[in-house]
Amino acid sequence: MRKNIVAGNWKMNLDYQEGISLFSEIINMVRDERKGDQIAVICSPFIHINSLVQLSSGVVKIGAQNCHQNESGAYTGEISAKMISSTGAEYVIIGHSERRQYFAESNAVLAEKTNIALKHNLKPIFCIGETLDERENGSYFHVIEKQLEEGLFHLSPEQFAHVILAYEPVWAIGTGLTATPEQAQDIHAFIRNKVDVKYGFNIADDTSILYGGSCNPKNAEELFAQKDIDGGLIGGASLKSRDFVDIVK
Ligand code: PGA
Repeated sequence: MRKNIVAGNWKMNLDYQEGISLFSEIINMVRDERKGDQIAVICSPFIHINSLVQLSSGVVKIGAQNCHQNESGAYTGEISAKMISSTGAEYVIIGHSERRQYFAESNAVLAEKTNIALKHNLKPIFCIGETLDERENGSYFHVIEKQLEEGLFHLSPEQFAHVILAYEPVWAIGTGLTATPEQAQDIHAFIRNKVDVKYGFNIADDTSILYGGSCNPKNAEELFAQKDIDGGLIGGASLKSRDFVDIVK
């Protein structure tokens, strides 16, 4: 069964205390107000993860925003998938456009990160999406197809079944410009079709494909009503408990 998921991406925001208080608000509101079986996830900075897992009591799931592609070793400043998993966190964002852009993460490196995340039982939230230039010059279907093929399609069907996809048009991230529900649905259907061709109908039908990019309580309902949109990856609006929980609802 395809799951409906709303994942918050706090990015590099909130000091330790701020993160704990925001999370405490979120968890109380989700516990009281959630209707249905949506999964709410918070992907926090590394310093919060362990404490959030302790506080979460399973009501809200916890994830990281990145992991290193190697198992362990001399990589000063890095955090491994095994370390993340050992805290009880269950998810990790892989291939966010900010990582692709500012840290030069290629599809090949992201494929390795996905492998190691899966090895340590983390569910990858794998981000794909085109830049404004790619949208305007019409190459976006090709770009997205390449991100899928090079980043994910080496996985076995059993492995792929643990992956969550997030379509995030780069031009919509943090800009206040949202893809229209029709634009987003078009791409989500395209993505699901590619998964179908590679892994078959059942896996494609079960894959959750989230939309990300200036998603907020006002536009979430219409976006999530689209046939192939199964929730959202939320940046800015996940820093306000009321907005995040309204999106979950
Ligand atoms: P935004 O970010 O909601 O602030 O646009 C989304 C994301 O980067 O995941």
